[in-house]
Amino acid sequence: MYDVVVIGGGPAGYTAAITALQNGLRVALVEQKYLGGECTNWGCIPSKALIELGSAVGVARALSRHGITLKVESIDRSKTLRHISRAVTKAREGVKYLLSEVDVIQGFGRLKNTHLVKINGSESKEVEARNIVIATGTEPKTVPTFSFDGVKIIHNRHFFELESLPNSIAIIGAGAIGCEISGALANLDVEVHLIEIMDKILPEVDKDVSDVVAKYLARSGVKIYTSSSAQFKEYSGDDVLIRISGKGGTAEIRVEKVLIAAGRSYNTKDIGLSEVGVETDERGVVIVNDLMRTTIPNIYAAGDITGPPLLAHKAFREGVIAAEAIAGVKEVLPRGPVPMVIYTHPEVGFVGFSESQATRIGVKHRVVKFPYVALGKDSTTIRSTPDGFVKLILEEESGKIMGAAIVGNGAADVIHLFTLAMSQRMELRDLRKAIMTHPTYSELFSEIVSSALGRPLHAPKS
Ligand SMILES: Cc1cc2nc3c(=O)[nH]c(=O)nc-3n(C[C@H](O)[C@H](O)[C@H](O)COP(=O)(O)OP(=O)(O)OC[C@H]3O[C@@H](n4cnc5c(N)ncnc54)[C@H](O)[C@@H]3O)c2cc1C
Repeated sequence: MYDVVVIGGGPAGYTAAITALQNGLRVALVEQKYLGGECTNWGCIPSKALIELGSAVGVARALSRHGITLKVESIDRSKTLRHISRAVTKAREGVKYLLSEVDVIQGFGRLKNTHLVKINGSESKEVEARNIVIATGTEPKTVPTFSFDGVKIIHNRHFFELESLPNSIAIIGAGAIGCEISGALANLDVEVHLIEIMDKILPEVDKDVSDVVAKYLARSGVKIYTSSSAQFKEYSGDDVLIRISGKGGTAEIRVEKVLIAAGRSYNTKDIGLSEVGVETDERGVVIVNDLMRTTIPNIYAAGDITGPPLLAHKAFREGVIAAEAIAGVKEVLPRGPVPMVIYTHPEVGFVGFSESQATRIGVKHRVVKFPYVALGKDSTTIRSTPDGFVKLILEEESGKIMGAAIVGNGAADVIHLFTLAMSQRMELRDLRKAIMTHPTYSELFSEIVSSALGRPLHAPKS
């Protein structure tokens, strides 16, 4: 009998397995496809490899504004994808190495009872477990009128397994994934149409933040349609004909590929959850407590299946919590505030409450902003983001940080200073004591903290 059997080898599952092992437990992990899950194989890693290529081209082109003319002579659309698949293979091998002392079983796992997992793989078998961690992640969802055919109408998994980048693409859904891929492809000279049903891109962030990203995406050539819906019309030769209906009327466009990036469904059906008494909500999200324990005491759940935000680092943390709880660790890591980054140009980083959420829940708050134009570091960069800013949302009465958002270069890293401050519940006056190196993007942190305390250093006078 194993101490722990983990179902799913993505970020939540493999960190649960590693942590359980570190705590001296005997562990098996069941994975139906590739170790690393969505993140390693078709998500975080390939998308960031693509973005890296796109931004390198962006920098090369921007140099001409500074007197250095580099000509991007050609973009080999299949070779670029080789860079991506190399990054994926390397990351997947890394996960395999980390799990070398875990019994990895290939196949589809299903709960037979609260202590038994049935695995259907090249052969069928059953494994017994004192504890089970479910970490089965999500599947891409389509939108009305479109059905995935894997060739022309595709989701992220098809996209990152293409032989060659298309000449033109319609991306349906302008959330983080849709915006990241749009910007990268536009830099690589792909014709991109980005279609969003809501009235703005990046529905999860405040409008002042998403407006900055929309401006830069449009500048890089992405055609953005907000308050618009796309309908499949027909296959037309090598292309797909789609209709876009929005406030301004309807338009028909012809593209090589349609990428649907409009949400995910939870992999919590068909794995025996309800049969053994593990409860889910109406969306299929598994109900867990702070220790990731489900409604059945020896069964835990972690990662995307416990609900939004659907992020790898949330999954990492939840995998660790589940394993530590199983191992009986005294002070299990807390869940803490989960930062989120959108890897567009400019980047977006945010943590805690947004301004609109704070307004919606009715907490009295004050907002402090600091602009990138006042930041020395940004003016030294080739692709500066002068429209960017950082903003802090502070609870009016206590002065505590409720949330922070950054849009601009460096946001992906600097947001962690705010996350640290929030997770340690630090006071603004303590935060002001830390000296930040000049010139760096980290100065965004010291500048806005000083501004919030009424002692701005480089902030323009309001
Ligand atoms: C295009 C894209 C880009 C992304 N970029 C980022 C990013 O930059 N940063 C970030 O934080 N997040 C990103 N994400 C989200 C991130 O990929 C997920 O949050 C993360 O992978 C969730 O981890 P998980 O372990 O919960 O699930 P998954 O990664 O989905 O892993 C679940 C695993 O379980 C396996 N499985 C499912 N059912 C069974 C079964 N019954 N038996 C056996 N195995 C099973 C699956 O094959 C899979 O390997 C991105 C996602 C996408 C789609």
